[in-house]
Amino acid sequence: MNPHELNVDLHMHSNASDGQLSPSELILRAEKNDVDMMSLTDHDSINGIAEAMECAEGKKLLLIPGVEISVTWGRLTLHVLGLNIDPRNNILSNAMQEIQDTRFERAKLINQALVAGGLPSLLDEALEEAGDPGQISRTHFARAMISKNICSSTREVFKNYLVSGKLGFVEHKWPSLKNAIDWIKMADGLAVLAHPARYELSLTELYILLDDFSNLGGVAIEVATGSHSHSDIKKFQSIANQSKFEASRGSDFHSPTESRFDVGIAPALPVETVPVWARWM
Ligand code: AMP
Ligand code: MN
Ligand code: MN
Ligand code: MN
Repeated sequence: MNPHELNVDLHMHSNASDGQLSPSELILRAEKNDVDMMSLTDHDSINGIAEAMECAEGKKLLLIPGVEISVTWGRLTLHVLGLNIDPRNNILSNAMQEIQDTRFERAKLINQALVAGGLPSLLDEALEEAGDPGQISRTHFARAMISKNICSSTREVFKNYLVSGKLGFVEHKWPSLKNAIDWIKMADGLAVLAHPARYELSLTELYILLDDFSNLGGVAIEVATGSHSHSDIKKFQSIANQSKFEASRGSDFHSPTESRFDVGIAPALPVETVPVWARWM
């Protein structure tokens, strides 16, 4: 079968990170949307995978265990997907636990910065949204601000408070690109650079990143994702072919009310690419 004919979604979040549905709810949603293959890729966490695997058992849909690792590369934060990882790998799970251990300290700093700027303390609400201090992210602060009527959408919260240069932005040191790719490889997974257009790099910087990524063992880049425009998709399709990367597709679904694309509904991967999922068919 032609891999382009499958409905594949290799990027989404459950409430094991900053998504709003449980891993089982995501599986059922994917099934309803006629997804053939999906990956659960929570931020710096594989804690939702056991539940997803249990729910996917016996279903036609193929579940690829995944993760989305936060990385510091120079002045930037990048996201690297680890697809088809072995969730029982201790090196990977310990590394994810260590990242989670830094999230609550960061959240306290974000909260302090917001309070210093005159906002009420949102730490308790954000923590309640997250459910677990190791999962707390900017998304949970955004939800807390919306529930307190400080802003009306996550987009507005990020733009005004949580991105670089704004009141609640706190520099954070995530693992290096090398560490992230090494952990993924040690867990028998495949490293995919998530939403490359989001980093707003010049073409020169982009090629330096792609070179680094490839030299460290990165295999594919996301071409069709919920956070790429049609022109981004075209641009990264040609970059993928030119630089010999396989291509991936994912909705980056987080929530029925917040996400632009539902599970399995991201733009299609252009037929001129080599889909990374052909390996798992
Ligand atoms: P964190 O891991 O705490 O830095 O949070 C990153 C998460 O925030 C991303 O995975 C997105 O879900 C969300 N996010 C980042 N930028 C934006 C934005 N501009 N609008 C809405 N959500 C965003
Ligand atoms: Mn997220
Ligand atoms: Mn991401
Ligand atoms: Mn994501």
